Amino acid sequence: MSVSPKFSAASKAFHATLKQRVGSYFETSGRPSTGTARLHRKALILSLSFVAGYLGLLLATPGLVWAALGCVGLGLVTAAIGFNVMHDGAHGSFSKRSGLNRAAALTLDFFGGSSFFWNVKHNIIHHAYTNIDGVDDDIDIRPWMRLSPNQSHYRWHRFQHRYFAVLYAQLWLGWVFFLDFQKYFNRCIGDTPVKRIPAVEHALFWGGKLSYLLVFLVLPVWLVGIVPALVGFLLYNWTVGFVLSLVFQLAHTVEVAEFPMPDEANRMDSEWAIHQLLTTANFATRSRLVGALVGGLNFQIEHHLFPKISHVHYPELSKIVRQTCREFGLPYNEYPTLFQAIRSHVRFLRETGRNVPVLG
Ligand SMILES: [Zn+2]
Repeated sequence: MSVSPKFSAASKAFHATLKQRVGSYFETSGRPSTGTARLHRKALILSLSFVAGYLGLLLATPGLVWAALGCVGLGLVTAAIGFNVMHDGAHGSFSKRSGLNRAAALTLDFFGGSSFFWNVKHNIIHHAYTNIDGVDDDIDIRPWMRLSPNQSHYRWHRFQHRYFAVLYAQLWLGWVFFLDFQKYFNRCIGDTPVKRIPAVEHALFWGGKLSYLLVFLVLPVWLVGIVPALVGFLLYNWTVGFVLSLVFQLAHTVEVAEFPMPDEANRMDSEWAIHQLLTTANFATRSRLVGALVGGLNFQIEHHLFPKISHVHYPELSKIVRQTCREFGLPYNEYPTLFQAIRSHVRFLRETGRNVPVLG
């Protein structure tokens, strides 16, 4: 059982200044820190697009090429719902109403993943202990990949910058059929124990798995036949897995990101907010298209510093964060384009895949 590392409390001036400035931004602008009506319209459009695409594939039975493109498109819409709706909902930032946040978060269960384990894995572990090996589950794809210089090296890691895309594509299937069950039955995420699962969460866990099987396997097999259904199923799940993995990884496993570890007394060098700056990078923040598709997750620095604020505010908040980092002489890691961030991730994988001594 792991004991969570403690962040330094030596100086919290940066975080205090930032919180004060962001607080006064919302006070003077009069805007709520949660999602706006525009986000809610977008959520509706994405949901309707999913329903239309799904029904179109099953009922209109398009030709081979259109069906394949449709499955990939449905995967992209699913990932966009995950980034724009589910992620904000799980952080409680989608709406002022807790019921709407809960509904937004539960879209994950509909798509086959457990929102209960997501909350623990993402909101508690990943956001608090970003890039700390042994605690942050997001950088643990062992033994298949080495995503931190603190992890053990295996021979095949030398090729991880070549095969990562194949593995990333398996993420969603692995998540739905294996990783959630591993967490459920072991009652832990990595080394972090999950003490109690409320009765309603047991029901949602199993209900989500059953709805996934029904919507994505049973109905398609029944309506279009077993082979087309299975091919479509794979295309859809590979698309969801690849897009989710890539967007998650571009924020923390790129060349500029650091992987600090606690000392013997389990203490970190930095305070929590500075730790977030060291371990996180933005990408393509000027691209409205990228921002719209990834639900503001291209502003990962702002998201990690203010996870309870909806992503729709990140472009404005980034001006405050960037300026405050400059004043305090702190890094503000950013890749100007999506392509540059992807290249940096591939170079990071190549470097980390080399057989260098284990750190720490
Ligand atoms: Zn988050």
